[in-house]
Amino acid sequence: MLGHTGLQVSALSFGASPLGGVFAPVDEAEGERAVRRAIDLGINMFDVSPYYGLTRAETVLGRALAGRRHQVILATKAGRHGEREFDFRKDAIKRSLEASLRRLQTDYVDILQAHDIEFGALEQVLTETYGALQELKAEGKCRFIGMTAYPLPVLREALHHCELDVVLSYCHFHLANTLLLTELLPLAREQGVGLINASPTGMGLLTRQGPPAWHPAPPALVEQCRLAVAHCARRGADIATLALQYVYWQEAVPVTLVGMSKVRHVESNVAAVAEKPRPELLAELLEILAPVQDMVWANA
Ligand code: NAD
Repeated sequence: MLGHTGLQVSALSFGASPLGGVFAPVDEAEGERAVRRAIDLGINMFDVSPYYGLTRAETVLGRALAGRRHQVILATKAGRHGEREFDFRKDAIKRSLEASLRRLQTDYVDILQAHDIEFGALEQVLTETYGALQELKAEGKCRFIGMTAYPLPVLREALHHCELDVVLSYCHFHLANTLLLTELLPLAREQGVGLINASPTGMGLLTRQGPPAWHPAPPALVEQCRLAVAHCARRGADIATLALQYVYWQEAVPVTLVGMSKVRHVESNVAAVAEKPRPELLAELLEILAPVQDMVWANA
């Protein structure tokens, strides 16, 4: 259950940023098949944003969901439109959602979140943007509202000032980082706010292909993750499997979003969480990653 929303979300859910070609070139037809395969395998929540692939991810997701919109919980965002383009004003948030609805081929989303609020003027986000989200909720354009950010203190601040249904945090709960569990989870639980955990591979750090060139992690974290990936391979295991199992089986958060655009990733990720992590391998990985545990980077 996602906080007090009443939404029964699948604990492993679908992050749609790869549908926008954010990590690697995307085959849109394959991306659409991945979405439909995910629904068939029981994944029911899909998270996207106009920012992902500069509207492309929403367009691909909208096509994939045609005829199946009623089967899923659909979440998008507003406020971020480009790498350095943000607009958290009320009118902009409303216009952004209208455009998202057209691309997603629906007349409402289940969740609308202000996207990456640390890049805005917090004073404006917590008043004007928040007001826009509340109005859109009252108009029935979205059922629930929330905010996303990388720095956990910013999300705590948002929770102290606004009545949100959900908050989304990324890269703070994976094999090399558990800050989410101590720095945000207690407050979210206390308030009945649904905590959405994103990026269980640390945006590609804990995958065989490694992080994309734009990844903001400091070199020490990248290097230690590379060693963990290599160790896993020597042991005949796929690090992405361990990364998902590690988060999933702690059962600490209601939902974890993993980014996908390929049918084979959907299938292997769903299969991965059906089993618990191998304890010795997990212990070895945690030992390799201990020197960089909870390392964060500056954002905004
Ligand atoms: P992630 O940790 O989920 O990693 C995604 C990467 O892992 C992609 O390159 C994907 O192809 C790859 N991958 C997935 N399964 C794999 C497998 N089995 N084997 C090998 N590689 C695999 O990072 P993410 O995509 O950034 O996060 C998940 C989702 O959370 C996003 O798609 C987005 O919807 C959301 N998110 C939101 C914010 C925000 O609001 N600011 C930030 C980050 C993520």
